[in-house]
Amino acid sequence: MEMKKYDAVVVGAGISGLLAALTLSKHGKKVLVLEKNQHIGGNCNSYMVDGYQVDTGVHAITHLSKGPLKRLMDNYFDFLPVFEDYGHYYIRTENAFVKVPSNLKDFVTFDILPRKDRLILSQTLTKAFTLSSFGIDLSDRAVYDFLPKSLSKDTYDFVDTMSISLSGKSMKETSAKRILYGSNFVRDSITQEQFDAMIGKLESKKSQSTESILASILPYHLHASLHARMTKVTQPFTSLERLATNDVNNSQGYPRKGLKAILNAIIYSLPETVEIKTECEVKAILVQDGKVSGVEADEIYLSGLVIYTGFATEIPMMIKDLPTEYVKDLKEIVHSKSLTIWLGLEKEFPNFNYTGSEIWFKDFAYWATPISNYDPSLAPKDKQLIGFSFVIDENKSEEQEIKKAYDTIFRAHPEIEKYIDMQHEQTMIPEKAAVAINGKFANIRTPVQNLYVAGTDTDKRSMGITRASYSIIELLKILNEDGNLH
Ligand SMILES: Cc1cc2nc3c(=O)[nH]c(=O)nc-3n(C[C@H](O)[C@H](O)[C@H](O)COP(=O)(O)OP(=O)(O)OC[C@H]3O[C@@H](n4cnc5c(N)ncnc54)[C@H](O)[C@@H]3O)c2cc1C
Repeated sequence: MEMKKYDAVVVGAGISGLLAALTLSKHGKKVLVLEKNQHIGGNCNSYMVDGYQVDTGVHAITHLSKGPLKRLMDNYFDFLPVFEDYGHYYIRTENAFVKVPSNLKDFVTFDILPRKDRLILSQTLTKAFTLSSFGIDLSDRAVYDFLPKSLSKDTYDFVDTMSISLSGKSMKETSAKRILYGSNFVRDSITQEQFDAMIGKLESKKSQSTESILASILPYHLHASLHARMTKVTQPFTSLERLATNDVNNSQGYPRKGLKAILNAIIYSLPETVEIKTECEVKAILVQDGKVSGVEADEIYLSGLVIYTGFATEIPMMIKDLPTEYVKDLKEIVHSKSLTIWLGLEKEFPNFNYTGSEIWFKDFAYWATPISNYDPSLAPKDKQLIGFSFVIDENKSEEQEIKKAYDTIFRAHPEIEKYIDMQHEQTMIPEKAAVAINGKFANIRTPVQNLYVAGTDTDKRSMGITRASYSIIELLKILNEDGNLH
């Protein structure tokens, strides 16, 4: 058996695995990435269907001005994706199309819901917010428990949809804390100072600023407008002021040329010391005297450091004799399942003449984005591409859920059927752990020395790619603490 030595083996080439490989390699390590699929990128990619470029799910990239992805881009990327301004979030009903209120003042005039209900909701929000400002932990209190029981069905459907979009779970399973953090009513960020304190300065690259990297690959006028967007810093509001004036859309973006632009920026930034093997499933993680010694895939790969970015729930299948308590905790991680329907339209459909996304919250909620409005090259000339994402019930048949989803789209857009030129469905698991009240998360450290877990099931903060980025920053911090980084 041929054996090779790497400083680190990364299992999985989704965004988390690739960010792990990029950062470790920039800290001087020789890294091998093993991916079981034919393609890298996992849930973060784009591909062609009949002349349209679809993404793996409808995406908005959040916290771009000060969040964890920005921090990783500043410190480790040589190439950067360009983000288009996200636009606005709208609510669509049978007879209305309005902007989502992004602060309490707008909320009070949000006439999609009955006025009485709106007043109650804004009082509830204020109460939850006040409790949390005083340090009362709302993480095990359900959103539903905060609501009076006298609201209309539409209002419950609305709150349910907001809960599902923030946590992947219903309002009965979503914590009140999630609504406050996830909705940007409380903002989270990582400053460069905090980053330096956690991870230590990079030796190899003298903290090159985004600006200088950008200048080298982008024409100046693009660079200037991008830079202006990315550094748009909000006023240092006090907590309550922020609640009243919050601007949800600040610092969100859609990557120009589609979701795969983020993947490409990482790939282009990888040094030659990173090797990636696809169609190479890791079946066992090897342990010697309580320490990781490598992995077994098509052959054995030896390494004293392994970063695992697949489902943490699958670790017990790859390592025998783990402590029962650890295995029990992993079993409590829950996730949700999503369905995305992509519709290619013959010509521009009048309902989708905006940039941003729309939410339908009645009965079966969807979140839709006309992505070709950001970038017409994502659809054939003069045609339009719209993605609709739903959270589906894993216990029902997929066929049934797909049918229900199409019925919902046709109910929301009665004329759209005539425009359809392409249709394509995807079912995926958006995050490896949902932030449900009883749902657990995995620790980055494992009972096996030098085996670490990264990805969306190791960090509660934010969602998706932003959460994956948080998990990588946390991983780097822990590797640093354990003496495994520098
Ligand atoms: C419909 C939908 C909408 C979304 N919307 C947003 C959004 O608006 N904003 C946002 O930020 N995020 C969003 N996301 C989520 C985001 O795309 C994901 O959270 C992120 O891409 C996950 O990255 P990851 O690397 O942690 O996991 P994954 O992408 O799942 O990558 C894990 C990789 O590991 C590989 N792997 C697993 N086990 C093994 C093994 N044993 N051996 C080898 N390889 C293995 C897998 O094949 C996979 O490629 C959305 C996702 C979906 C599906």
